[in-house]
Amino acid sequence: MITVTDNLAEIKQKIKNAANKFCRDPQAITLLAVSKTKPCTDIITAYQAGQRQFGENYVKEGVMKINELKSSCPEAIWHYIGPLQSNKTKDVAEHFDWMHTVDRLKVAKRLNEQRLQGAKPLQVCIQVNISGEESKSGINVAQLSELASEIAQLPNLTLRGIMAIPSQPDNQEKLKQEYIDIKQKFETLRKRHTGVDTLSIGMSQDLELAIESGSTMVRIGSAIFGARS
Ligand SMILES: *Cc1c(COP(=O)(O)O)cnc(C)c1O
Repeated sequence: MITVTDNLAEIKQKIKNAANKFCRDPQAITLLAVSKTKPCTDIITAYQAGQRQFGENYVKEGVMKINELKSSCPEAIWHYIGPLQSNKTKDVAEHFDWMHTVDRLKVAKRLNEQRLQGAKPLQVCIQVNISGEESKSGINVAQLSELASEIAQLPNLTLRGIMAIPSQPDNQEKLKQEYIDIKQKFETLRKRHTGVDTLSIGMSQDLELAIESGSTMVRIGSAIFGARS
């Protein structure tokens, strides 16, 4: 039987191979294990295999798991990577370490106000709509630098970089172009803001291309935990 532990080792090897192939330092690529819809027992297995960064997509489910795993996974770092309505910001601000899908100032301000006193600032990525299609979530690239400057002034948030989801993951050529564009935006942002170090791109399907394109954090779900029903 293939286990979470085996899958994790295989993905780490894939990251290493891709990094070597494109002359990048494998240490510069963080593996985010996306555990949405999967039970806490799977997360504990991954944790015991050394995994520390976990991504969740749904507020209620994520908060429940964070609370439940406090004692068994004390060093786990929790990333919120799903869409977020502005009336749900409080749960993210109070429970998560990272938030990848900030796409408007209203959400950023609420997260900043709702972060608990004494807590480390919430680590934030701005979600960018790389294809520019209206139906996709994320901010348009034209508004990226303005939102970044505004977030940089909020004391309880730390701006870490950019996150994107491919518009058509099966179209390799299109994806390659989108990733070239986003890498450029990331480099510009990094020059303007100290502390920006994260380009959150790459999922199970496009891991290698994302690493070629400069990803510093890949978000892998099904290739670790198995297909979601
Ligand atoms: C589900 C999800 C992933 C992981 O996708 P897999 O194809 O299962 O690797 C990564 N990023 C986001 C935003 C997701 O919603």
